[in-house]
Amino acid sequence: SLQAGCPVFSDRHLCTLLSLYVLCALCSLLTAAHGLTDEQKEFQKVAFDFAANEMAPHMAEWDQKEIFPVETMRKAAQLGFGGIYVQPDVGGSGLSRLDTSVIFEALSTGCVSTTAYISIHNMCAWMIDTFGNNEQREKFCPDLCSMEKFASYCLTEPGSGSDAASLLTSAQRKGDHYILNGSKAFISGGGDTDVYVVMCRTGSKGPKGISCVVVEKGTPGLSFGKKEQKVGWNSQPTRAVIFEDCAVPVTNRLGEEGQGFSIAMKGLNGGRINIASCSLGAAHACVQLARDHLLVRKQFGETLSNNQFLQFKLAEMATKLVASRLLVREAATALQENRSDAVSLCSMAKLFATDECFNICNQALQMHGGYGYLKDYAVQQFVRDIRVHQILEGTNEVMRMIISRNLLTES
Ligand SMILES: Cc1cc2nc3c(=O)[nH]c(=O)nc-3n(C[C@H](O)[C@H](O)[C@H](O)COP(=O)(O)OP(=O)(O)OC[C@H]3O[C@@H](n4cnc5c(N)ncnc54)[C@H](O)[C@@H]3O)c2cc1C
Repeated sequence: SLQAGCPVFSDRHLCTLLSLYVLCALCSLLTAAHGLTDEQKEFQKVAFDFAANEMAPHMAEWDQKEIFPVETMRKAAQLGFGGIYVQPDVGGSGLSRLDTSVIFEALSTGCVSTTAYISIHNMCAWMIDTFGNNEQREKFCPDLCSMEKFASYCLTEPGSGSDAASLLTSAQRKGDHYILNGSKAFISGGGDTDVYVVMCRTGSKGPKGISCVVVEKGTPGLSFGKKEQKVGWNSQPTRAVIFEDCAVPVTNRLGEEGQGFSIAMKGLNGGRINIASCSLGAAHACVQLARDHLLVRKQFGETLSNNQFLQFKLAEMATKLVASRLLVREAATALQENRSDAVSLCSMAKLFATDECFNICNQALQMHGGYGYLKDYAVQQFVRDIRVHQILEGTNEVMRMIISRNLLTES
């Protein structure tokens, strides 16, 4: 039993995760392959295998030692996961948003924090691919797709979070450069990454005065704050990004002046599906871990799996997982097809899946009793890692604002 220690592996964390992958094969409802094409099933399997072999054995160590697993991510990039929905002519995989969701869900079963960073990196690469000119695409995208270089998305500032359009970082044009001044807060990968996709103010107040520029590491005037100490997401650094008279070539601007806020929001529509997919992966893993624990843990003379209260709880968890997945995949399809309801659906998917999947993981921890609270058991890390999905890429309150605004203004 898990309580007594695993007879095969001394590391209980590894043991629980390995048993997870054995059970994955058993429980078809949770393997999440229904309705997928043969090709999608194929790369889903590749992603599950990568999660099991290259990520899960290290996820606790990456968390506890705060390791940014650069080489593992580069291996993921060799499988095409560095630019999943970037076009193939600049090194991307050219896959759809649904394909991307399937991949991120599978990868997250092995490490949510690392997968979530890969998802932000993918979002940045897509923004350059989509809104950049050919010169910019050819300059940045190949190295991002191979993860030779890593990217960060810089929107939030100390004084502008949910009200992102109020950002103050200024970019004053001087000849063929913009001179950036200001700072960005909470930047994922900040300090360790090479390419910063920065939203800054080139014009007047409000969203129309915002532009998007790419700032390369090493540019004079670019510096970083201290590494933040976080509850989860510890395999990726989070730092402030600071600009002090930082001169960036005008040729690094994506799109037109004033288009930056729209570019940032378009990036986030996909980002929200990706983050929701990472929550699906965590919930997917935690349902399996809870099932495993109920089947082996004995109390009151029988296994916990014989207790009807816990059976019903497990059934609710699985139901909410499948419902969340259906909504995420519907939103991914809507975004791919550029449907008019895509923005609302992306927000609904992010709101619903990140809330429900957090509850699923938290319930799985509860089912583990005291063991769930020990760092030897993976379930606590899934809970810590996905808590932030309710906060970032637009808080879940902001998701409600977007959904209701669209409903109330629809003709
Ligand atoms: C680990 C981590 C990584 C991050 N990575 C990035 C990154 O890579 N790039 C980036 O740009 N940002 C990043 N962020 C920032 C993140 O997007 C912001 O934290 C988030 O948008 C919320 O902004 P805030 O923290 O300023 O909260 P606030 O905007 O101050 O909100 C505080 C609370 O008030 C609520 N609230 C605010 N306004 C309203 C309203 N009108 N109605 C109802 N409720 C409201 C919010 O929902 C929230 O619950 C990251 C954050 C974290 C924690």
